[in-house]
Amino acid sequence: MKSVEEIKRAVKKKINIVWIKRDIRTQDHEPLYYAETLNEDYLIIYIYDTELLCYGDLSLRHHQFVYSSISDVNEKLKKYKRSINIFYDLSKNIFRYLADLYDIKNVLSYKETGIRASWNRDNSVQRIFNSKNINWIQFDKQGVKRGIKSRDGWDKNWYYYVNQEIKQTTFSVSNLSNKFEKFLLPTNFRNQIANYSNSFLKAGENEAHKVLESFAFERHLNYSKYISKPLKSHKSCSRLSPYLAWGNISVRQAYQQIKKTDSNIKNKRSINAFTARLKWRSHFIQKFESDCDYENKFINRAYENIKFDENTSFLQQWKEGLTGYPLVDATMRCLIETGWINFRMRAMLVSFLCHHLNQDWRNGIYHMSNMFLDYEPGIHYTQFQMQAGLTGFNTIRIYNPIKQSIEHDSLGEFIKKWVPELRDMNSSEIHEPWLHNKCYSLFDNIDNSSKYNDPIVPPVKSVVKSRQQLWSIKKNKFAKSESKRLMALHVRKRTTRLK
Ligand SMILES: Cc1cc2nc3c(=O)[nH]c(=O)nc-3n(C[C@H](O)[C@H](O)[C@H](O)COP(=O)(O)OP(=O)(O)OC[C@H]3O[C@@H](n4cnc5c(N)ncnc54)[C@H](O)[C@@H]3O)c2cc1C
Repeated sequence: MKSVEEIKRAVKKKINIVWIKRDIRTQDHEPLYYAETLNEDYLIIYIYDTELLCYGDLSLRHHQFVYSSISDVNEKLKKYKRSINIFYDLSKNIFRYLADLYDIKNVLSYKETGIRASWNRDNSVQRIFNSKNINWIQFDKQGVKRGIKSRDGWDKNWYYYVNQEIKQTTFSVSNLSNKFEKFLLPTNFRNQIANYSNSFLKAGENEAHKVLESFAFERHLNYSKYISKPLKSHKSCSRLSPYLAWGNISVRQAYQQIKKTDSNIKNKRSINAFTARLKWRSHFIQKFESDCDYENKFINRAYENIKFDENTSFLQQWKEGLTGYPLVDATMRCLIETGWINFRMRAMLVSFLCHHLNQDWRNGIYHMSNMFLDYEPGIHYTQFQMQAGLTGFNTIRIYNPIKQSIEHDSLGEFIKKWVPELRDMNSSEIHEPWLHNKCYSLFDNIDNSSKYNDPIVPPVKSVVKSRQQLWSIKKNKFAKSESKRLMALHVRKRTTRLK
């Protein structure tokens, strides 16, 4: 005799599901490509998981970028009567609901290298799949491997991955007439996410390719020259990061497209520096894949003994760009407004927080993940700890914001753009306005709100405590043995490059 479950299954329509996560595009998308080859109808879904929404690492700008990217894909899929169906609730509730409506055979998705909360989500969903006999097919992403214990052969595998043929999906027309009544976006959330600011890069697959092409054909020219310049890097860097982070473009597409434009390449050195960074990207994500606790636990456990100061007003001033250090404040304000800043300035913000203000890195980490439109857990947490000097095996870099300002914004153009209080200062004074009292008298008669802050900590001296701690821990036995353990796990042996 058939069980109730078997009878229910017999009358339900058999389908597969493509579960979109950080891979919002139509091409070079293995789950979509294989869903087409299975010759059974399939549903495409995206879930705004309410537990992850509340977690704190993401912010409205990310949800907006995702929503815009989905709308872009849906425009393209219209002619195939397909769309990404958006749901809003716990992922496990969504899959339970869909399993009630359909006989789901396979769920196809990419493996996600996420924070602990997203692993927990995946585990809860896996339990549902097990109980309902649903097969979950997960594809590798960006050359990152699950469960590896060393980096032997990792580089070779990465080159193999990015050189593999790009999967061009030919879409069939769907026969599913799916109108869902439950777990739809609440109206106020939908209104918020549909209201995407112009000051951020436009989202979507087409946009990603446009940005890549403009870099490949023209903008790469000064890539290496301006990579550390906070103003000029906005144009000369690839700016692909949000597209890669949310999967509007794959790392393989970016790599191959750049290689294809070889004949137009005006500056080979820049292009090589760019492709090297695509590999770093996967390298950092691979670290986080090995241990997602790097989100809030020390990579090198010897540093757990470090003593931070607790000062909520320092933290707030850092977050708002009100530290009295012009380059630090300009950088933070630019990041808040545009969602992007170049690598060196990101590193300087972390260094200022952890070394100059001696604040706990964990108190600043979500502020920055919220602000980065390109927030990618695998890069963010590992880079943050590295720049805070907490790995034990990387060089400790304590950034001097005055030196950085003189070297990388010598005329103060970037500062003037983002710190209007200093707009009338001349370029020789703008890096240390506190030395030039006249800057205050200029504004004294206007109103106090337009007066630029005094530095919240004294220049240079402020790093003494942090520097002493970092170096004394780095030299101790436990830190060294931890470094050894981490190097064995994360540092790759040199291999011959595949072209
Ligand atoms: C504290 C801190 C946090 C960071 N958090 C993120 C993050 O959440 N998401 C993110 O994409 N990048 C992060 N980065 C790395 C880097 O700053 C950005 O990738 C880069 O500035 C993005 O601009 P771009 O796309 O023009 O980069 P390009 O210089 O044009 O590089 C191309 C791509 O390579 C990758 N890449 C570049 N530099 C690095 C790097 N140092 N490490 C790893 N990958 C790199 C990115 O995917 C980037 O899009 C962080 C750096 C620091 C110091």
